[in-house]
Amino acid sequence: MNIILLGPPGTGKGTMAKEIAQQYKLPHISTGDMFREHLKKETALGKQAKTFMDSGKLVPDEITISMLKDRIKQKDCKKGFVLDGFPRTIPQADALSKSTITIDHVLNFTAPEKIILQRIGGRLTCRTCGMMFHEFNIPPKVSGKCDKEGGELYKRDDQKPEVVKQRLATYKKETAPLIEYYKKKSLLQDIDASGSPEEIFEQIRSILD
Ligand code: ADP
Repeated sequence: MNIILLGPPGTGKGTMAKEIAQQYKLPHISTGDMFREHLKKETALGKQAKTFMDSGKLVPDEITISMLKDRIKQKDCKKGFVLDGFPRTIPQADALSKSTITIDHVLNFTAPEKIILQRIGGRLTCRTCGMMFHEFNIPPKVSGKCDKEGGELYKRDDQKPEVVKQRLATYKKETAPLIEYYKKKSLLQDIDASGSPEEIFEQIRSILD
């Protein structure tokens, strides 16, 4: 089963992608996480991506598409995958549809902008394992420390207010057209992402089962 999660930042795609991956035994492929991994390792690709990411812009299609294609060629993707954060532009979606991969579901996460801004503003990420928390909604057991292995929690640069606004603008301009794109292919299903993680996952389960 090949699944795409679509929607603006702050709608909980990452959290749900992890949950789907676990329950349905599929690899979770997040292009954002892949870029952050490159940044951490200071690879050439990481250096190229950094300026775009820090300003809330998209990394150019050419770089992103080739990175993603390499990833889904790997063995663990044979039974399917959950794509989180890809495609984010029409050329990226075209690249997928021209490949031999068939997409089974496109889940379109929606939530009011007010909720989105609140969610992103409070996000905390673990420096060691990437796990996410929220100052108010999902606080860690010990302040400033990850529940898993106690890694340091920090606010990502791209989660600061000016950059969040830019990311939402980028979403509207570049990614929102994919809603029509996948609607036309009869693959799109809306997910109301304004509720609790449990409520959101129930909607997803009823679609995937
Ligand atoms: P979010 O917090 O919205 O889930 P991500 O972690 O998916 O954000 O992505 C962080 C940044 O990585 C994006 O703002 C963008 O610069 C870059 N990025 C991730 N996926 C893509 C993509 N498919 N195309 C271009 N840039 C991407």
